[in-house]
Amino acid sequence: MAKGRIAIVGAGLAGAACARGLTHAGHACVLFDKGRGPGGRLSTRRVETPLGEARFDHGAQFITARGDAFSAFMQEARDAGAAASWQARLVSIDRAGNVEPLRSEDRWVGVPGMNAIVKHALGGLDVRFGARVTHLSGGPGRWSVVLEDGEREGPFDAVAVAIPPEQMIELLARTDGDFSSQIAEANAAVIGPCQAVMAALDAPFDPGFDGAKLYGGALAWMARMGSRPGRTGPESWILHATTGWSARYLEANADDVVRNLLEEAHIRFGFPARPVWSSAHRWRYALSEKAPATPFALDETGTVGCAGDWRLGGRAELAWDSGTALGQALAR
Ligand SMILES: Cc1cc2nc3c(=O)[nH]c(=O)nc-3n(C[C@H](O)[C@H](O)[C@H](O)COP(=O)(O)OP(=O)(O)OC[C@H]3O[C@@H](n4cnc5c(N)ncnc54)[C@H](O)[C@@H]3O)c2cc1C
Repeated sequence: MAKGRIAIVGAGLAGAACARGLTHAGHACVLFDKGRGPGGRLSTRRVETPLGEARFDHGAQFITARGDAFSAFMQEARDAGAAASWQARLVSIDRAGNVEPLRSEDRWVGVPGMNAIVKHALGGLDVRFGARVTHLSGGPGRWSVVLEDGEREGPFDAVAVAIPPEQMIELLARTDGDFSSQIAEANAAVIGPCQAVMAALDAPFDPGFDGAKLYGGALAWMARMGSRPGRTGPESWILHATTGWSARYLEANADDVVRNLLEEAHIRFGFPARPVWSSAHRWRYALSEKAPATPFALDETGTVGCAGDWRLGGRAELAWDSGTALGQALAR
């Protein structure tokens, strides 16, 4: 017999960590995610290009594991074949072209795509994809999750909300109950945007690095997908703009975003001006810039909690830590 039934809204890394902890403690969890498949911001886009299928890790680029709990999870993912160390030429480059190697650290990537890590974390759990939760109804001990199409699922004893702050505010604002302190914290949190460009090329392109942090222009990062373990398909690159540029051009036409970022990469590194295939993806909420710095928060009834990287900082490990901490609190 399960101890309690708990709904988890958001099946990214934070939601997955929360569900794993609760399941381990004997609770029955159901996860709801609006996405079509696992990943959240640890995502991989599969596209058909004129040169065949290409995969782009267009969200998080690599994962570092500094704490014991997340290190143990990443080793488990590696043993399952869902993650591997990224051994590559990683550098930082300033506007004047000065190149420095990135400091030596284990950097993990998902295999065959970044989302494999979340897929592994969700293994064996009851996850409903394509399920956008608009609000909750009921109350402590009898919560229902209300989906966009009007369907309801429940009752649940408690609900963990593991989604970015703006989306959480929308959800809690439509739910009866006193969530004012969680909403105030979410309002004060800042998650910056990121404009990403994916480009497939008809020939190998080697600027002397596989991944580079870039300073002094619109670009913040460039990486070669084929330098990661388990990647096949045409030569593929991902380009990320800085938060400042992305905010300035948040509503820009996707073609203009592609053109501007490719042009900068062409001028700085000779990146091919005409990729065989290219596209832009706008992350409206990408990297946490200002966080409440506590791993989770509960409402006054102790049955609705929130978690996510936005509570601790913009790293996958911090999403994991936040979700784990909320799971521990709800398991009590
Ligand atoms: C461009 C970019 C680059 C990054 N680079 C790095 C990096 O190099 N290293 C690193 O460690 N981190 C990086 N990050 C950050 C990292 O991806 C995040 O910290 C982590 O994935 C956050 O996990 P999460 O579970 O908190 O949120 P998310 O991954 O955003 O998961 C939230 C989930 O909730 C779902 N959802 C939202 N609203 C609803 C709703 N109403 N109903 C149902 N489901 C909903 C979403 O579909 C999503 O799956 C990067 C992120 C981006 C976008």
